[in-house]
Amino acid sequence: MDAYQRIVVAVDGSPHSDRAVSHARTLAGRFGAQLFLVHAFAPLSELVGYERYERVVSRRTLAGQAVLDHARKELGAIPAEVELLEGPPADAILRVAEQRDADLIVMGTRGVSDLAGLLVGSVSHKVMHSAHCPVLVVR
Ligand code: ATP
Ligand code: MG
Repeated sequence: MDAYQRIVVAVDGSPHSDRAVSHARTLAGRFGAQLFLVHAFAPLSELVGYERYERVVSRRTLAGQAVLDHARKELGAIPAEVELLEGPPADAILRVAEQRDADLIVMGTRGVSDLAGLLVGSVSHKVMHSAHCPVLVVR
């Protein structure tokens, strides 16, 4: 096979995710792969109708864009498409991987929560469980 051509990189702004981006950068440079950076922010549907809804949306969107901008900077000259999605992160990552026909997903073992004692976080766990392509879990 021509590994790897289309790599999804899941980012949450944590040091773990920074290391995943660094591995993705190396792989993209080595294989000339296309990169798709994905970040998902928490669902907002339960807030619809509240007067502060718009403010919460724009705050979360801005925070998500900052996470993606940070990852893009880490990539230096390596180009990447970015996807900012609302909803549960694992579902978003799996959906983008399918839509983009990814041949690899790169992510961290853990993320911003980083609970001591856990081998992998819930997002990595779910993606590893359900992905239709290989998953590189960076520690
Ligand atoms: P948990 O969230 O289960 O309490 P955690 O934050 O330590 O624990 P995960 O959230 O599973 O662990 O993070 C593992 C990896 O998943 C991160 O390094 C990142 O690559 C990816 N990830 C986590 N959250 C998101 C997100 N919101 N959007 C995109 N990728 C994410
Ligand atoms: Mg997390």
